[in-house]
Amino acid sequence: VTILAIESSCDETSASVISNGKILNNIVATQSVHEKYGGVVPELASRAHQQHLIPVIHEAMISSGIDKKELSAVAFTKGPGLMGSLMVGVSFAKSFAFMLDIPLIEVNHMQAHILSHFIDDPKPNFPFICMTVSGGHTQLVLVRDHLDMEVIGETTDDAVGEAFDKTAKLLGLPYPGGPFLDKYAQEGNPLAYSFPVADMPGLKFSFSGIKTSILYFLRDNLKKNPDFVEQNLADICASVQYTLIKTLLLKLKKAAKEHNIKEIAIAGGVSANSGLRKELGLTAEKLGWNVYIPKLEYCTDNAAMIAMAAHYKFLKSEFCGMDVVPDARMKI
Ligand code: ATP
Ligand code: MG
Ligand code: FE
Repeated sequence: VTILAIESSCDETSASVISNGKILNNIVATQSVHEKYGGVVPELASRAHQQHLIPVIHEAMISSGIDKKELSAVAFTKGPGLMGSLMVGVSFAKSFAFMLDIPLIEVNHMQAHILSHFIDDPKPNFPFICMTVSGGHTQLVLVRDHLDMEVIGETTDDAVGEAFDKTAKLLGLPYPGGPFLDKYAQEGNPLAYSFPVADMPGLKFSFSGIKTSILYFLRDNLKKNPDFVEQNLADICASVQYTLIKTLLLKLKKAAKEHNIKEIAIAGGVSANSGLRKELGLTAEKLGWNVYIPKLEYCTDNAAMIAMAAHYKFLKSEFCGMDVVPDARMKI
């Protein structure tokens, strides 16, 4: 079974070839056009996908050493994501499958983020809880099997990645700000300033309150000292990161306890955060968890995770029709 998978949900154009469950490559073209706007511009994202898709797929096919006539199926991200971006990947996947007369496999991007854990060893044992933390989502997912997942908690407003990016923007850091905030935080004191940890009912998250309190905190301090941010950048970053991680771990611990599960995974772009990785390790030692964190290249958007999901769907003959359309708000 050999599958070509395509990811185009946001601002990464990616292709990957998987053969009998083994990822052969993961080619990613990151769009740089958005940097000067401080956020993803949907219209420009679609255009950039249109531009990059064929070269990325060409490279994936060449480096896999597999001829296109040997492919068993073509997979693509159906959603969630930006409509125009998804459209580019879906249209190509359909045409390619039609030309080769092979089945088409639709993949849910959030399910794929979780299945990135099955690319390499060690793999989590079922059932496990995965906290998916990315630019658009913050979810706690109970994973019973590769394709049997249930969202048991999620954010009621902003995603944690958004909180990282928006704070970074307020601090004048480049886009996307998450990795920069992480970098400066490593040299700062996490207890220098305190921000509120939102404790919503049950397993719900909220990140809009923290964002607002950071806004007011900066406004008040900049009034007193115009160089406040420059002089205290590392401490501010460390304190914000500490608060965001504390908020995440509060609910993760609650979910693990409620479901009596010690197999714990994280996925999505924010799982690249060094503070979160470290804190998760410490919590695991304390609570006896087995913790699973994907390799950095599989944390942010990539087609290898789409290929992994497609592999499991192929084994169950879960194909889709040629009339499939993207679903920007697709649920797990
Ligand atoms: P979704 O998967 O919800 O549709 P997305 O695809 O945009 O959203 P990802 O590519 O999975 O999200 O993740 C991007 C997010 O991860 C951005 O918000 C980025 O700032 C954040 N991020 C990446 N690295 C780090 C880091 N080291 N620390 C904190 N945040 C990070
Ligand atoms: Mg991205
Ligand atoms: Fe993503």
